[in-house]
Amino acid sequence: MKLLQQKIREEGVVLSDSVLKVDSFLNHGVDPQLMDAIGEEFSKRFKDQSITKVLTIESSGIAPALMTSLKLGIPMVFARKKKSLTQSDGLITSKVYSFTKREENTISISSQYIQTGDRVLIIDDFLANGQAALGLIDLAEQAGAEVAGIGIVIEKSFQDGGEILRQKGFRVESLAELHSLKNGRITYKEEATAGVNHS
Ligand code: 5GP
Repeated sequence: MKLLQQKIREEGVVLSDSVLKVDSFLNHGVDPQLMDAIGEEFSKRFKDQSITKVLTIESSGIAPALMTSLKLGIPMVFARKKKSLTQSDGLITSKVYSFTKREENTISISSQYIQTGDRVLIIDDFLANGQAALGLIDLAEQAGAEVAGIGIVIEKSFQDGGEILRQKGFRVESLAELHSLKNGRITYKEEATAGVNHS
């Protein structure tokens, strides 16, 4: 998705060989026009999949997931990382190791919001080692739903999450695929394949 790639080039900050900071439009500040375009793109890619719910994880997945659910005309549910006082019966939980925070979280949804018969589209901001996506898949499957696809805003193709999920047979659609963040430089997958050098 060209608009997203441009935005990452203009505003993304490479923090290390494996971490990209995009706080200005996705992880802290949120660009509503870009989120609108992201929602449109995911909805175009998954519109023939009879999706009934969009599932994400707080907090950075919420903006792209909400726009996708709006475009598809279906509800969105986000998994919580901390147990809420108002959550009581029918809690479904899974454990997720966070790549950026280096800690394990128990994530949860109420069984009220995702049920048997639902076809779930999982949306998240980044795909690194796949732990967040695997936790969300686990929640959806425990709820009796089917995972119909996974939509990722930024996939880091040099980490193994994409391969793990695709090998398990999930359809993963990423709007920007990073081939490398080496030496402070962003290289997209298609540039690496075409041999383009952005030095
Ligand atoms: P995974 O579970 O696939 O290892 O990591 C995905 C989660 O970690 C995402 O939900 C995202 O919050 C965070 N994450 C992973 N890599 C990055 C990164 O390079 N930059 C940012 N901002 N977040 C990341």
